[in-house]
Amino acid sequence: MPVENLKDALSAAWRVRARCIDGRIDNGRSVGKCRYQAELNVETLVWTRGRNMLLTDLSARMMCPRCVNRRVSLILEPPPVAGRAAE
Ligand SMILES: [Zn+2]
Repeated sequence: MPVENLKDALSAAWRVRARCIDGRIDNGRSVGKCRYQAELNVETLVWTRGRNMLLTDLSARMMCPRCVNRRVSLILEPPPVAGRAAE
């Protein structure tokens, strides 16, 4: 089943992680690369963005909280399958 918008992600219990792409952090003496990433709460995203928000549009509205970079990629992770112990 394709997961295209927030409603799909929520109903299929997918997890969404955001990752900063090539952000820059000025830590005083030098400038380092920011690779900050964090898991986003899908339900909160639905509350704030609406459930029909496309995931591709969502990534365009992201901003890294560490370095204010706007190039953020979203990583979608399918839910762990319960009871798949012996494989
Ligand atoms: Zn960043």
